[in-house]
Parts: sequence; C-alpha cells; structure tokens
Amino acid sequence: MKVTVDKDRCEAHGQCVMAAEGVFALGDDDDVVTVLDETPGEDRRADVEHAAALCPVAAIKAGD
Ligand code: SF4
Repeated sequence: MKVTVDKDRCEAHGQCVMAAEGVFALGDDDDVVTVLDETPGEDRRADVEHAAALCPVAAIKAGD
C-alpha cells in the first residue's frame, strides 16, 4: 500500500505515530510528521488505516 501525508495539514498531533509506529515518526522538535515507510506491507494495513482514521486533520492518505 501507499501512504502519503499532506504536510500542509499535519499539525504534529502524533496519533499516527502511536497507531503505526515504524511507518510514521515525530521528533520532539518536529512540527510535521515524517513518513518512514511510504510503502508498508499488508501486515501494516490495519495500523495505517487506523492512523488515518485517528488523524484529527485528515492529513493521511492510505491507498493501493
Ligand atoms: S496524526 Fe495527523 S496531524 Fe498528527 S502527526 Fe499524524 S499526520 Fe500529523
């Protein structure tokens, strides 16, 4: 699957990092999330979809 984050929308809330650690990362001084893995495997699909659902600004797009 393919994961993208709209960095103009991201407000660094970090819910995505908790839902899908290893796919998303956020350092203490970051004001926008980093996508560590833009093409995670099927085993991460549920985590990434959960992250997208949790993001309060709907910045995460997860598709095939
Ligand atoms: S949950 Fe959304 S706003 Fe928060 S860090 Fe992730 S992409 Fe950014």
